[in-house]
Amino acid sequence: MKTILVLGAGTGGIITARELSRTSGNEEDINLVKILVFEKEETSVFAPSLPWLMVGKRKKEEVTERTNKLDASGLEIIKGEIEAIDPENIAITVNGKKYNGDYMVVSLGVEQANAHNLGHYGHNFFTLKGATDFHEELEKFSGGEIAILVSSLPFKSPAAPYEAAMLIEAFVRTNNLSHNTNVSLYTPEAGPMEFAGPEAAEELRKLLEKKGIKYYPNYELTSVSRNQLEFSNGKSYAYNLLAYTPKHQVPQIIRESALAGSSGWVEVDRNTLETAFKNVYAIGDITSITTETGAILPKIGIFARQQGAIVAHNISRKMANLEPDQTFVPEGTYFIAAGEGKASETRGNFSDSTNPEVKMKAPAQWGHLSKWWDEKFWFFKNF
Ligand SMILES: Cc1cc2nc3c(=O)[nH]c(=O)nc-3n(C[C@H](O)[C@H](O)[C@H](O)COP(=O)(O)OP(=O)(O)OC[C@H]3O[C@@H](n4cnc5c(N)ncnc54)[C@H](O)[C@@H]3O)c2cc1C
Repeated sequence: MKTILVLGAGTGGIITARELSRTSGNEEDINLVKILVFEKEETSVFAPSLPWLMVGKRKKEEVTERTNKLDASGLEIIKGEIEAIDPENIAITVNGKKYNGDYMVVSLGVEQANAHNLGHYGHNFFTLKGATDFHEELEKFSGGEIAILVSSLPFKSPAAPYEAAMLIEAFVRTNNLSHNTNVSLYTPEAGPMEFAGPEAAEELRKLLEKKGIKYYPNYELTSVSRNQLEFSNGKSYAYNLLAYTPKHQVPQIIRESALAGSSGWVEVDRNTLETAFKNVYAIGDITSITTETGAILPKIGIFARQQGAIVAHNISRKMANLEPDQTFVPEGTYFIAAGEGKASETRGNFSDSTNPEVKMKAPAQWGHLSKWWDEKFWFFKNF
């Protein structure tokens, strides 16, 4: 019986494991392959719902599940921290124990770091705790400066800070705080959501303006103190409540392995997601994928999901002595919550950041419904 090692039970790992179970012929009581999924966290968080949590539109229990409830035939969850990866021999070490496989799929995501000691002053809304704590503070807020800060580049989910800003602005307005509150977004990016091209970026910029959100692009943080943010252009701004994206870095375990490419992230064949090592694949945020036009793909969950499905399908073909026949195309639909029960849709091929065909639609109720459905279906299907 073949064994597949799936490293990480986040977005990409979950899809990979479930698809492997389905496409490899596993059925209840009949397991043709063994799928070992390694994960260090006991709680699985649906990250796209964290901005809703920040403004009280979700409770913790609604956006989390226990990792060991992940369910698929032939799937075994092994709880623990992966300590070493040996891609050459398709082996890993977890809690001092070695596991070997015939195939390996690495989906370990990014490692978050506490740059500028931001954790002391604000809330890292890219975590369950940070989003929850921010909401607690927001409920007590009586007015002042609310800052949303992109602390460094690159960061996953490039639309998340914009979603957070729009949802917070809606909260402020609904709670009659607009007269004495400013919502500001500071970022080192030249513009919003650049991966989707100039048209979508312009639409999002206009939307922020319409909502009265103060937008500061090209603002790179140099330091933070109580109530003050300092930027590399010499400007400084006061804040009373701060939500920030953390510094994203390559996980140490990858840095120490032969998988780290010249950028530090894992380099893969952009079509097959196979690494330089045969039968070892990497998907999702851990990868750095340069498209044909030289653009670097954003770190977004819709890609991690597609990549997981494709890799699982192709591994199943290989196990059946068939040629892999699916390739990854960076296309998708990305929804951005805009407050007031609406979300905008950005759809297209994101392989070229100058692509004028990718457009962002005006926020609409059905966009919100699509986001809502995606969240509900994620838990229903996977746990
Ligand atoms: C606030 C927010 C909003 C977002 N909104 C969207 C959205 O609307 N649409 C969208 O497409 N994307 C969105 N994303 C991005 C999306 O969540 C990520 O791109 C996606 O989760 C990446 O999947 P992954 O499998 O690569 O990594 P992850 O989902 O991060 O999974 C990695 C897993 O590996 C585990 N792990 C790491 N190291 C180890 C180790 N040493 N041992 C054992 N386990 C380990 C981690 O605990 C984790 O469970 C959002 C992200 C955030 C933070």
